[in-house]
Amino acid sequence: MRAIVLDAPRQPLRPAELPDPVPGPGQALLRVRACGVCRTDLHVVDGDLTEPKLPLVLGHQIVGEVLASGGRFAPGARVGVPWLGWTCGECRYCLASQENLCDRARFTGYDLDGGYAELAVADERYCFPVPEGYPDEQAAPLLCAGLIGYRSLRLAGDAERLGLYGFGASAHIVCQVAVARGRRVYAGTRADDDEGQAFAQSLGAIWSGDAAAGPPDELDAVIVFAPVGELVPAALRHVRKGGSVVCAGIHMSDIPSFPYELLWGERVLRSVANLTRADGEEFLALAPTIPVRTEVETFPLEEANEALDRLRRGTLRGAAVLVP
Ligand SMILES: [Zn+2]
Ligand SMILES: [Zn+2]
Repeated sequence: MRAIVLDAPRQPLRPAELPDPVPGPGQALLRVRACGVCRTDLHVVDGDLTEPKLPLVLGHQIVGEVLASGGRFAPGARVGVPWLGWTCGECRYCLASQENLCDRARFTGYDLDGGYAELAVADERYCFPVPEGYPDEQAAPLLCAGLIGYRSLRLAGDAERLGLYGFGASAHIVCQVAVARGRRVYAGTRADDDEGQAFAQSLGAIWSGDAAAGPPDELDAVIVFAPVGELVPAALRHVRKGGSVVCAGIHMSDIPSFPYELLWGERVLRSVANLTRADGEEFLALAPTIPVRTEVETFPLEEANEALDRLRRGTLRGAAVLVP
């Protein structure tokens, strides 16, 4: 099969011809129809996440057609493969419905080969049926940007005035869910990102502007999607007493020290890690009812490096998706 391979961090990905993967017990063999590009992929390539399997096929927002099944799905079914690829089922976290924190979790496109390829295998227990009505490339970003964004929104509580700092693939989905629920969304971007600010307003944000400076109104919660540690004290400054700041990314630059008074007043600072299968089922059932529309830019598989570069430079509108 054709695939795009990471041989080592801080190197461009390499087009390669690999042997077709062979599914083990309980695994499905999938023909990849589309695979979303996530900021986490960039953190793997850049060496910010330090323990990938190598060589590695990246990609954890896979929409695929089942070619062979371990029994859960009929051949021809369309399924989605997310970041959470396997859990142990027996550690204290798995036993407490916190499989996202499993001590031995394996992640797609990190510990396991992912979807930057023509074919992929996945443990069927961690695959989701993909809702009808979404073309393959528009469904792909639901599988991480959507799922983990949705978990972040849930953990932000019932904020009426919600800040989304870093308006990329995940925020553009969360914005639609929040607006549909009657929340007022404040989109923070880089100061000079006029296009991103206009994009956020087109999706229903009532304010968009420089995240570091913050909006004119006090917020109930902020979800920080940008991997920029400076935004954490800024967001704490922008939330009311009892408000929350939720860090949604897997990696962030160091958070500068800040005066305790920013946290005082029962403000809450927390991260969101990974997803549970229950998050996935809940969000994929919800998305078509809103309906969430994803904005995507597609790239041929061979242009994976270009897609990652565009993500790094912040010049994508919505989400990048690779199509084999
Ligand atoms: Zn992701
Ligand atoms: Zn476990």
